[in-house]
Amino acid sequence: APAIGVLALQGDVREHVAALTGAGARALPVRRPGELAAVDGLVIPGGESTTISKLATAFGLLEPLRERVRAGLPVYGSCAGMIMLADKILDPRSGQETVGGIDMIVRRNAFGRQNESFEAAVEVAGVPGGPVQGVFIRAPWVESIGAAAESIAAYEGHSVAVRQGPLLATAFHPELTGDHRVHALFADMVRAAR
Ligand code: GLN
Repeated sequence: APAIGVLALQGDVREHVAALTGAGARALPVRRPGELAAVDGLVIPGGESTTISKLATAFGLLEPLRERVRAGLPVYGSCAGMIMLADKILDPRSGQETVGGIDMIVRRNAFGRQNESFEAAVEVAGVPGGPVQGVFIRAPWVESIGAAAESIAAYEGHSVAVRQGPLLATAFHPELTGDHRVHALFADMVRAAR
């Protein structure tokens, strides 16, 4: 099985490790550049994107991450991870950097305060077997998307999942549902890239 790392700086790392394992992948935490160099794919978890950005810089991971993404590393980001994969944030906090790679602009906390958390069934192109239960927690949405990227799911008229080559991003958290189909899609992408 391919080795899929989970960026373990902040956020729901354990849930992604469990979901990847459930999808038949070998999952391991990544905190150091040497660990990043050893994986065939990477998940950037949900959490808080400014914190993940600052810790990635402090741990010397931001540039190595950008380099591996440029070199074609498959990466899946959920929620804060989606923000980390965006080429641009509409409303970044000061000093907030992204890894980038997906030709899109994201809006943080887009669904608003009174709706900080909700669930909705979302049809995701490329995920067979019916809609996935989308868990949205202070979720971003995709404000605009470039020609290189493809929206693969929408909710109330806003794109909430995107794919661009070996990069996958969802505004919601399939790692919290026990349904491993999105992680299985990503594991397939990692296998295809190897
Ligand atoms: N709103 C958070 C951020 O900006 C993301 C929330 C999440 O990952 N559940 O990073």
